[in-house]
Amino acid sequence: MTSSIREFASKKKPGDYYQRLAAEVEELNKEYHAFTTINASQKGKAGAGVPFSSKANICVKGFETTAGSKMLRGYVPPFNATVIERMLASGEYSFLGETNMDEFGFGTFGLNTEVPARNAFDKAYVAGGSSGGAAAATALLKYHVALAESTGGSIATPAALNGVVGFTPTYGAVSRYGLIDYANSLDKIGVISRSAADARTVFDLVRGADSYDTTCVVGKIRDEKKERFYVVKELLEAAEAPVKRPFEKLVSKLESMGRKVERISLGILAEAIEPYYIIAMAEASTNLAKYNGYKYGLQYGELYKRYDEFFTSARENFGTEAKRRIILGTFIRGESVRDRYYTKALVLRRMLIESMQKVLEKGFLLSPTIPILTPKISDASRLTPVQNYAMDLYTIPPNLGGFPHISFPYDYVNGMPVGAQLVAAQANDYSLLGFVDEWEKGFAYRFAGNVGDI
Ligand code: GLN
Repeated sequence: MTSSIREFASKKKPGDYYQRLAAEVEELNKEYHAFTTINASQKGKAGAGVPFSSKANICVKGFETTAGSKMLRGYVPPFNATVIERMLASGEYSFLGETNMDEFGFGTFGLNTEVPARNAFDKAYVAGGSSGGAAAATALLKYHVALAESTGGSIATPAALNGVVGFTPTYGAVSRYGLIDYANSLDKIGVISRSAADARTVFDLVRGADSYDTTCVVGKIRDEKKERFYVVKELLEAAEAPVKRPFEKLVSKLESMGRKVERISLGILAEAIEPYYIIAMAEASTNLAKYNGYKYGLQYGELYKRYDEFFTSARENFGTEAKRRIILGTFIRGESVRDRYYTKALVLRRMLIESMQKVLEKGFLLSPTIPILTPKISDASRLTPVQNYAMDLYTIPPNLGGFPHISFPYDYVNGMPVGAQLVAAQANDYSLLGFVDEWEKGFAYRFAGNVGDI
């Protein structure tokens, strides 16, 4: 697959390239709602670099950054996140705008926000979440890369649903400074792009130690070639038949590429949803406590109100899913139940990491990215919270373990893309990118749009 970064650099851009691009993106956005902010100041800058976007939970100096929440409406960060600083300092990229997302990252289909993004292939379908805008924008724009974020699958899932590459690096490889936290022990900034080559270029630019984030500690990124792929039976069983069928074709294709695919039993991977949601909600509920309308969060100025009245009205600005997670997360951390839920979830997380590590020493883990075909917005909005959470079955294990993973398009069913997810051992990010690079030599991605073509 050609790298759109390299291709863009080699093209002679018309003087008004950005002016036209920003105008086209504004038009496109009326239909797809992929962006929450579009940077019009790029207009007229002919010598500028590859257009890049950032998910709306990554702080960009001078641009409204809402994390998809009404609570942060009007918040304009006075500083750049480290990843933004590094993209801009390179002089090779130009900031195009911020992309739509589920409020604070709470969601799988992109519907938990005021105006959801639409799927780039068909507007009646979900863009996926929580980085739905980033994935839809990547699928629609010819020259563009997206910085996105995953806590439990928010890069892989929307990338799969929009037919693009979604790369989530090893936990700690990329600084989280300037990221609006969802759950600190899980959050990772990664890349959504049209090729593995582009993901690698951006990853190499933004990763590495940062004195502002002491959890950013990963040393050398490795490229240990793995010939063996493991498919976990208990995970695949849970997929819908229309997902299993193309997946089996993928397995045969990998075998014809000379890879060994082995089916293994590893039931603990299918038990990861509960500990994930317990840990994620517990952490989220503490992170959201600062949005109380005093220093952070939409302010009413009704300071004459009683303490509890004031907070109750300030917190009305949270959406339904955010409120659910505050209530459940706060409950989970309560002294009388903490050991029953939170501590137990931590134990399960440790067990899961250890059992995954054993497999990942020998090869990759392979699965579909999501157990169902892309749902229509009308169908996805009818799912209960628990049905929604169950959709993260495949993306949660690598996210809980901080293992790098990548989703890549491998087939089209009824005209819509389907994605597969590959997981590697920690710090083995390059081996994933290397495999997808090879995959792209024999499989041509179909993109939903080519806006901004030159
Ligand atoms: N769907 C998962 C959740 O709602 C993951 C979201 C994410 O990775 N930000 O928690």
